[in-house]
Amino acid sequence: MQIKTLFTLSIFVLMNASAFCQKADASKYADIVNSAALKKHLSILASDSLEGRETGTIGQRKAADYIKSQFKKIGLKAPENQNGYEQFFPLLKDSLIASSLTINGEDLLLGIDFYTPLSFNETNKIQADKIVFAGYGIDDRNYSDYTNLDVKGNVVLIFSGKPKKELSKNDNGETINWNFSTKLKTAFEKGAVGVLMVDPNADKISASTMTRNKKTNRYFPEFNAEKNEISNAVLSHQSGRKIVGDDFDNILQTATNGYSLTEIKKEWMMSLNYRFAINHDTLFASNVLGVIEGTDKKDEYVFLTAHYDHLGKKGDKVFNGADDDGSGTVAVIQMAAAFAKAKKEGNGPRRTVVFMTVSGEEKGLWGSEYYSDHPIYPLEKTTVDLNTDMIGRVDTERKKADTLNYVYVVGHDKISSELPIINEAANNNHTKLVLDYKFDDPNDPNRIYYRSDHYNFARKGVPVLFFYDGMLQGDYHKTTDDIEFINWPLFEKRAQMIFYTAWEIANRNEQLKRDKPLPTGTR
Ligand SMILES: [Zn+2]
Repeated sequence: MQIKTLFTLSIFVLMNASAFCQKADASKYADIVNSAALKKHLSILASDSLEGRETGTIGQRKAADYIKSQFKKIGLKAPENQNGYEQFFPLLKDSLIASSLTINGEDLLLGIDFYTPLSFNETNKIQADKIVFAGYGIDDRNYSDYTNLDVKGNVVLIFSGKPKKELSKNDNGETINWNFSTKLKTAFEKGAVGVLMVDPNADKISASTMTRNKKTNRYFPEFNAEKNEISNAVLSHQSGRKIVGDDFDNILQTATNGYSLTEIKKEWMMSLNYRFAINHDTLFASNVLGVIEGTDKKDEYVFLTAHYDHLGKKGDKVFNGADDDGSGTVAVIQMAAAFAKAKKEGNGPRRTVVFMTVSGEEKGLWGSEYYSDHPIYPLEKTTVDLNTDMIGRVDTERKKADTLNYVYVVGHDKISSELPIINEAANNNHTKLVLDYKFDDPNDPNRIYYRSDHYNFARKGVPVLFFYDGMLQGDYHKTTDDIEFINWPLFEKRAQMIFYTAWEIANRNEQLKRDKPLPTGTR
């Protein structure tokens, strides 16, 4: 009886499976994800005319327009509750309008004697009659430059860096990171009205610092912007000398050697006038989304993502980012074409498939962060995010016989136990790549799990798989990440493998189980 029941059951399962296969066979459509089509798109996205697709620039706009035009042509819809294919997110673009610093009636020269960092300043003017020396500006359990020091209403002069010894450790045994922003916060809490900082290792204000400071501006996602509470300037050694006098070089030597500065008690009665203006512009970057509506499970979602932004250009050198992440972007476009064709022939996915190419990735995963904090579709109904960032090349560091037949898969052992089963079956049945899980090792120092857009889905509990060719050396983030180095047969095979995986997840009966803990750790 039992055996018989089992027997009938397995026949039933078998028939069901084969009927299902006949109804919607992914391999009928996988060919649409082919080298020629991928190459056609990539030759546009990775061309010099897109200027490296830097977030917030014209190059990024051009890339977004191209992707939109392809989504339209393929027949994808824009998300219903959104005006068009793009989800815009705000960025701040700051620039210094003017800055002047006068000490004891003497004007210091911007760019030579001092500069005004954009990242921690807001338009302000301050006036003070006293400058107080506060060592490294550190107030730590074991080492404090502020012991018996009253800085209320005064400007403090500090050195960057920290003492080599003395500082206390955190729970992991690391000394606490006293960076510029922590020091500014501390000075603010102690009641100081301004901070002048001297970098012991930078005699002069360098031209590149000024270029960075004056021309490149600051792009910052508005939703992430830090609050600036205390005005500050960075001084050259010559300017430090003007304030401190003859002792400057002794103190400098002590700081350069990383010795304690707590014994040095100094203050200078001198008038200080510091005024500067910073302009904030708000720019908008975007995520581009196209949708194929599902059939009987259309309220559940499969996401296929990649980032379309890259590093822009330096002078006349363009970072074309053919692999990073032109490859993932064009793979998403062609997977969309394949699903669209299937839909046209009555084989559309059961779940809604959302094709999303994001920007801001190279700046810090901004686009996907924004999406995951402002989701258009419920994240608990988003069954998976399959993210692709660089799948077109061969890892120069991989010394194995399978260099022309592998892909790194990251995330398979997290959030859902069903991920590896589905992904491996799709691969075994069709593409037969070597799936390499080395970057899933929690001890892997590259921390790949946290370094592309899938992370922003994972942190919200959405199961993710990330596909990646392993390029970290070689041409990674260089101007030589160009289309002529793409390995087309391998690229095609990887993209098809992702397509097969997406197809299965879009058509299976159940949403992916979320039966494993969320990854610990943060970016
Ligand atoms: Zn990338």
